[in-house]
Amino acid sequence: MSELNYKELLKRVIDSSPEKEVIEDRFKLPKAEIFYEGNTTVIKNFDKISDAVNRDSDLILKFLLGGLGTAGELEGSRIVFQGKIPAKSIQDKLKEYIDAFVICSECNRPDTHLVKQGRTTLIRCDACGAFRSIKSRKKKIVQQPSETLKEGMTYDLTIKDIGKKGDGIAYFDKYIVYVAGAIKGSSVKVKIEKISGTVAFGHIAGV
Ligand SMILES: [Zn+2]
Repeated sequence: MSELNYKELLKRVIDSSPEKEVIEDRFKLPKAEIFYEGNTTVIKNFDKISDAVNRDSDLILKFLLGGLGTAGELEGSRIVFQGKIPAKSIQDKLKEYIDAFVICSECNRPDTHLVKQGRTTLIRCDACGAFRSIKSRKKKIVQQPSETLKEGMTYDLTIKDIGKKGDGIAYFDKYIVYVAGAIKGSSVKVKIEKISGTVAFGHIAGV
């Protein structure tokens, strides 16, 4: 094949590539129909949900039970949980499952399947071919616990502002830290003297 032909061919392939279209059909899970029966909680259309995500009902059930901290079982097309569980909690857990085990992190499509590789489970995307391990994704969706300042400890902070009374202001996670005598823009070691809610006071303990 001459180079010209090759280039022409390549151009055609690129032109007809579906990637040119905007693919943003974010996966829609069938809405779980949840109701209460005596002291149990029922997802009426669980079969539709497991069908939609193409995962084994038992696996999803296991995930839900673990996450919701309750007992329950499959009964035909339904799941019956022990106790009254807020519908919102169930919806959230379902969404969590989908994010962790179904949606491709590259192309956001749900056309994936699970592949066992030794002791790790991988999720493989049929649409774009991406591979990822379940674990790494799980870590991502778990929110980082916010860091806590401690009185008497020293932190490296950058003074971002100067407060009304002339103190330097730094930010650490959810805290606002007032630092006496600090200069805006400087990076300093700050020893925390007092914390009140999300406001902390400290002094410069070094640069
Ligand atoms: Zn994909």
